Amino acid sequence: MNCVLVINSGSSSLKWNLYDVEGEQILAKGLVERIGEQAPLHKYSVNGQAASETVPAAKDHEGALGQVVAVLEGLKGGLLPGGIADLHSIGHRVVHGALAFTQPVLIDEAVKAKIRECFPLAPLHNPPNLMGIEACGHLMPAVPQVAVFDTAFHQTMPERAYLYALPHGFAQDHQLRRYGFHGISHQFVSEQASRHLGGDPTGHRVVTCHLGNGASITAVKGGRSVDTSMGLTPLEGLVMGTRCGDLDAGVVLHLARALGMTIEQVDTLLNRKSGMLGLSGLSNDMREVEDAAVAGNLQAKLALEVYCYRLRKYIGAYAAALDGLDAIVFTAGVGEHSPLVREAVCRPLGWLGVELDATRNEAPATHKSPLTEITVPGSRVKVLVIPTNEELMIAREAAKLTRG
Ligand code: ADP
Repeated sequence: MNCVLVINSGSSSLKWNLYDVEGEQILAKGLVERIGEQAPLHKYSVNGQAASETVPAAKDHEGALGQVVAVLEGLKGGLLPGGIADLHSIGHRVVHGALAFTQPVLIDEAVKAKIRECFPLAPLHNPPNLMGIEACGHLMPAVPQVAVFDTAFHQTMPERAYLYALPHGFAQDHQLRRYGFHGISHQFVSEQASRHLGGDPTGHRVVTCHLGNGASITAVKGGRSVDTSMGLTPLEGLVMGTRCGDLDAGVVLHLARALGMTIEQVDTLLNRKSGMLGLSGLSNDMREVEDAAVAGNLQAKLALEVYCYRLRKYIGAYAAALDGLDAIVFTAGVGEHSPLVREAVCRPLGWLGVELDATRNEAPATHKSPLTEITVPGSRVKVLVIPTNEELMIAREAAKLTRG
């Protein structure tokens, strides 16, 4: 068996999955939440058997990882016969790789330094990603670590898609360009979609909508990202849980000049208080906004309208960028679980060749069904719901790299 530990280290949580990469099976998985708080919680399951414990020691990421190591060592003689010594590698999700990383890499000190250099580009994500890497280095120094970047898949974008219309030399000197994110997910679901479409994959034109708390949309031609909605940072593009997405850059100038707001205040406003939370005045959780809208809350209805309209506009733009469209994919929390959003976005796209099947759209997505087609047979453009699996993608990449 070939076991890879996949780590997704966030600011206050650490998600882990133990994969048997050959069989593509999850052997164990867990989530340490509330890191840094009084009583962090570690929920995990081994072989599908759920367990949960409050772990008083996890005051930081290393403490949290210590809990994970304890669970893995507990598998000695069983699933992991030699305990952590049997780990083939550790795969980390790292959000921003800028220009430095166009593919997954084995982690060494130089790689860590480059990940640190990217902190200003993804201040919410890269620092906790690196904390997870450092913690693994301390607690499991003998296990090779691999970084898999959310930006790497989009490095195939042509200049016309990634350049901002800023002075060319200035933008180059400061690496100011669009990078795109959620690449691991966009790559995973676009590959699944391409397999489903069949025929020659080099001609496939697919738009993938990753709609989680963060949300982005990507135009994929022949398996390569040719455009995506997130930019230099994960703030650009679609309306998200708490992020505003596309915004006239002049708004930032106005907030500073006319309202005297500091950079930190503007950052908080745009990254943490906007999006669905800001528009609805209720919540960043799509379920709560949908429930309120159905109950007649006008602000919630408007928030949903803005969210869906922005997404529909992007699909139209990307159909133009791809010279036509074969499939639209919905994935991540909202994409997989909200028939209401899928309906609101796809129903008006009849002119593009999208014919939604209302009954199939209502069918819940589960990880047991890796792909659900929700258009009627014969629809010129297929709409697919594909549960994303970023962890499996990371495990595959980590195994591939360390095997070599
Ligand atoms: P993250 O970006 O944090 O990984 P997820 O992919 O888990 O996010 O998606 C989180 C979002 O999915 C939340 O806004 C949540 O409300 C939404 N979501 C989850 N289940 C449903 C559902 N049944 N209907 C609508 N939205 C849902």
